[in-house]
Amino acid sequence: MPEWLALYYQEPLELTHGEGRHVWDAEGRRYLDFFGGILTTMTAHALPEVTKAVAEQAGRILHTSTLYLDRHMVELAERIAALSGIPDARVFFTTSGTEANDTALLLATVHRRSNQVLAMRNSYHGRSFTTVGITGNTAWSPTSLSPLQTLYVHGGVRTSGPYAELSDERFTEACVADLEDMLGQTHGPVAALIAEPVQGVGGFTSPPDGLFAAFREVLDRHGILWISDEVQTGWGRTGDHFWGWQAHAASGPPDLLTFAKGIGNGMSIGGVVARAEVMNCLDANSISTFGGSPVTMAAGLANLTHLLEHDLQGNARRVGGLLIERLRAVAAGLPVVREVRGRGLMIGIELTEPDGSPSPRAAALALEHARNHGLLIGKGGRPGNVLRIAPPLSLTVAEAEEGAWMLEQALRQVQQAVGGKEQP
Ligand code: PMP
Repeated sequence: MPEWLALYYQEPLELTHGEGRHVWDAEGRRYLDFFGGILTTMTAHALPEVTKAVAEQAGRILHTSTLYLDRHMVELAERIAALSGIPDARVFFTTSGTEANDTALLLATVHRRSNQVLAMRNSYHGRSFTTVGITGNTAWSPTSLSPLQTLYVHGGVRTSGPYAELSDERFTEACVADLEDMLGQTHGPVAALIAEPVQGVGGFTSPPDGLFAAFREVLDRHGILWISDEVQTGWGRTGDHFWGWQAHAASGPPDLLTFAKGIGNGMSIGGVVARAEVMNCLDANSISTFGGSPVTMAAGLANLTHLLEHDLQGNARRVGGLLIERLRAVAAGLPVVREVRGRGLMIGIELTEPDGSPSPRAAALALEHARNHGLLIGKGGRPGNVLRIAPPLSLTVAEAEEGAWMLEQALRQVQQAVGGKEQP
């Protein structure tokens, strides 16, 4: 396998099975899972409804391709179209978030007859040639060659960078001014702005609520489409909203919305939602051999039904609220923690060296210590200095308390290792 296929931990971990919010390794050790395989185990590990749907469909037929009708695909498309908030919506299924964003870029650039795209600094949108070209986080973008002309705008990172000291209102004004300035320097029309409402790989950073509504006013004046990348923020993970874009609700829905990860609970489902006029703008044929395949669609339907019937968005809001409060209390005495941020069950802990510079070594150590205490967490941020906490949305209060306790132990050990004094 390639050298760039990075594994977590000095001694990489082999996971063999899971149940609820727990996973087990090959030695039989149990861990509380606060990362869900990169925010993808959305409801729970081994959720009986999903397992049953997969097994039953696997026993009927594994594959047909998009050349034939499959009722699970039609039903899931209808439900996602209705949930999306996009009027007269059409849904196209892919097998990953990368492919979903790639499709959104194809649609937007054809529709607008332009290869100029606005993206946010510090963003992540996938691993393909087009999506690395709109990924502002250079740690994940291995080439500057691109079929797109990308213009990066400010606003995805609230608490660092040149506008960090401004109030929310002034921050938004400055970002809008930056956007307008950028639009004054383009070669004719721009196709779209693509943005994650909360930057995932970037370290769970987000703009002040309403920024994208303010951007939308500018975009509308130029006819530029807005693509909301909801690969991490969709399906109620942020607690307050079902989609991340709803924190900017004054704008109304985006023109295109992309999703993946959680909807399949581990089955490979991605997709793009767009209003008919945009979705139907291609005048050549297109198919996806694996996109929308019967087993994944059956799993997605069962998973979405469970999520909605058990109000897991409400659970993410309640339990995520408790967890972030608890983590803020832990962090208050630890100078190694610069910031605890996020919403719902999408919580970032940014770590710094005693001199205030970003500390990827503290984050790497925190992962190791947390693992030793029986807790799996993730990492993010441009230099890899942010802990990412994103458990399945069914997390219980007791599990949140237990995980917070384990993180507290891990962070105290990190504090000792990096130096600098704990404050009482
Ligand atoms: N967009 C965002 C916001 C993501 O976080 C990711 C994956 N981390 C992707 C797109 C790409 O998704 P995938 O890995 O399924 O291709």
